[in-house]
Amino acid sequence: MNILVTNDDGINAQGLWTLARALQDLGAVTVVAPDRDQSGIGAALTLQAVVRTRDVDPPPVKGIRAIAVEGTPADCVILAAETLVSGPIDLVVSGINQGSNLGLDILVSGTVGAALQGYFRMVPSIAISVASLTNVQFDAAARTARAMAQTLLNSTSGNGFPTPLLLNVNLPNVAPDCIKQVDITRLGPRQFLENVERGTNGRATHYWIKHNKNINPAVAEGTDIWALRNNHISITPLNGLFGADESASEFQALADAVASELGIG
Ligand code: MN
Repeated sequence: MNILVTNDDGINAQGLWTLARALQDLGAVTVVAPDRDQSGIGAALTLQAVVRTRDVDPPPVKGIRAIAVEGTPADCVILAAETLVSGPIDLVVSGINQGSNLGLDILVSGTVGAALQGYFRMVPSIAISVASLTNVQFDAAARTARAMAQTLLNSTSGNGFPTPLLLNVNLPNVAPDCIKQVDITRLGPRQFLENVERGTNGRATHYWIKHNKNINPAVAEGTDIWALRNNHISITPLNGLFGADESASEFQALADAVASELGIG
């Protein structure tokens, strides 16, 4: 099995290597990730310049081929699928992102933007995030990614999952034993808008755009935001945006695999 691991936090991010390590014995893991933090870049492509790559040698995790890309997360998946990985890719996993990707905020997420390119190529694709920017606890997310990857890779003989498949996963920033439930959810509304901070150096004006204006919407039960607010793991089938049904029974197998791994439910 060929597993592609990528992210938008960059090639040196702890979540990327935690993820790669967690998936290492499920197949041949290749890490192709941006050479710097590309959070918020969405599904952008580099079309107006060449895209340079660099082998990470030695890789931070022994036995995993790693390539840093001077480009976006979506560029990484395109390069991996088209040329860097030999043979078909069986699974794309993007993350583990520092910070949640919930509700309509996924439309600006580089983590999801990378997974989208796997989806476009008919490869089952997972974006996975932990809802904190600091002191991130990756343990539950790593085990969640592993349990989901195992379930999906074992199901390639056609028992149920729609093709193409795109899943957005979010975890509360807590230890595994604090998580009580795994929910299959639908997207909620936007959680954040942007604040703008104005500055000047005496001659010119500049602005910082900050993605931190919490609009704190009331959210319905069954949404991803609701799940996180209740310390549940949220699995959102994003192919639902394009017509799939999050209540379809095959998705429950994913929730069951994660719950079983974490000994909950
Ligand atoms: Mn990020």
